[in-house]
Amino acid sequence: MSNRVYIIGAGIAGLGAAHFARKAGLEPVVLEASDRLGGRAGSIVHDGRSYEIGGKNFASDWALFNGILRSFHDGVFDDQHPNFHIVINGRLVGLEKKATLAGSIALARRIGVRPALRFRRLMREVSERRGQLGYVGEMIGDLEASWDERPLAAHMPRALATGPLRMFTVIMGAAEPDEFSLATLMLLLASFGKGSHHSLPQTTGHLFERLASECDVRLGHRVTRIRDERGCVRGIDGEGPTGPFAIDADRVILATPLHRWPVLMPLDAGLEDAVGAIPYYPLALMNADYEREVFTPDMNSIMFDPASPLGHCSANRTYRRHSVRFTLSGRMARPLLREDDARLADRAQAAFARVHPLPGQPRFVHVERHLGGICAYGFHYSRSRRRLLAGMERIAGLALAGDYLFGHNMEGCLQSSLAAVLHLTGERDAYASTRGYPEQGLAARPGVDASGTLGQAA
Ligand SMILES: Cc1cc2nc3c(=O)[nH]c(=O)nc-3n(C[C@H](O)[C@H](O)[C@H](O)COP(=O)(O)OP(=O)(O)OC[C@H]3O[C@@H](n4cnc5c(N)ncnc54)[C@H](O)[C@@H]3O)c2cc1C
Repeated sequence: MSNRVYIIGAGIAGLGAAHFARKAGLEPVVLEASDRLGGRAGSIVHDGRSYEIGGKNFASDWALFNGILRSFHDGVFDDQHPNFHIVINGRLVGLEKKATLAGSIALARRIGVRPALRFRRLMREVSERRGQLGYVGEMIGDLEASWDERPLAAHMPRALATGPLRMFTVIMGAAEPDEFSLATLMLLLASFGKGSHHSLPQTTGHLFERLASECDVRLGHRVTRIRDERGCVRGIDGEGPTGPFAIDADRVILATPLHRWPVLMPLDAGLEDAVGAIPYYPLALMNADYEREVFTPDMNSIMFDPASPLGHCSANRTYRRHSVRFTLSGRMARPLLREDDARLADRAQAAFARVHPLPGQPRFVHVERHLGGICAYGFHYSRSRRRLLAGMERIAGLALAGDYLFGHNMEGCLQSSLAAVLHLTGERDAYASTRGYPEQGLAARPGVDASGTLGQAA
């Protein structure tokens, strides 16, 4: 019986799964449709300089992300912006990430005293519950039960929902406040991580190259079907650089956005509903470099308002203030995302220039569309999650990893990667809790049959 596990997708979830699979003594093979590592957290290189085209920042308390970094990185990181500005009624309002009196007063002057106080109360509540709030466990279920089916826009003063709270729905789910539940918002706020936030000086590309160097990664291999028979995974079909391929496989980790699952294998109607209940909203990320600095040390990150096609713009790094990451997200952006690069770039820059000047034309522009979107979890997320995992368990040899299981940040993806490997090596309830980095490796579990799958062992 082969030790092989096939992993579909070379994003952080897929390459993370390969890393943990090796620790469990398995032989991972990663099949990636595109010609690039990293998926939505990947990077590009232009003129010898690297730029992230999606996910970039991480928190100092992320156990798995930092655990992987420790094995090869010197630990010198770039810091994330200490503050941000938000466009409210056409004006920029500066807010410190840490709640300050000056910030509260500035906010109260723009949105009113009551909404500003409500905002601070919500942030305090999240911070107090941070230890308990997670994508797993009862807390999210309890929280969901305490809010009705209406979106957060219906529960909060308008000025708060379309201002500071929208800042989070757009940045964390590319969604509007009327598309997001309050419980999910609290979950997202709590899950981004405590401690300090950083990025890698050499960009995420450094991490992905390292992870890919540990295993067999096949770029340009698009999987078109996961074959199963009588509730067991049997193989993978796809298109590679030299033509179609068909591989026999009894262990597969699907590490793509959730909506790829029903495309790759037929699911029963209930399971398809559970997949459909978790929305993904599309967005685009544009990197642009200018001759002169766009931002200042005090102003390096801007959240835009609902009328703008821009969700968020920031300096690439606090010390690269001439280099801008434009995020086109939210309802106004969606109809524009398929426009050609030049037109999209013009729109982004025109929207930006309405609130802050740009110094002429950029000397470099790269537009990356994430049309598959980012996960926005939806209402009663915990119920959908349970249904998804129950559906997965009915297919022996299949494990799921991705942004929809433990949070759509890089740590959440890695937690799902570890859970997927543990599931395939026979651990019951592998998705029921988050874990620390397995420094000592992952022991093969007794009581698992030769294929290593729980379903077949039971
Ligand atoms: C603009 C933006 C900013 C973000 N900022 C942050 C941040 O600062 N910090 C943070 O932690 N997170 C951030 N995120 C979120 C984070 O990037 C994602 O949660 C994470 O990258 C998702 O990883 P994944 O491996 O689950 O999916 P993906 O990265 O989408 O990887 C899936 C891979 O599967 C491949 N694939 C799909 N279908 C097939 C197929 N049929 N066959 C073979 N391969 C296939 C895809 O090509 C892709 O490479 C951001 C995301 C975006 C878009």
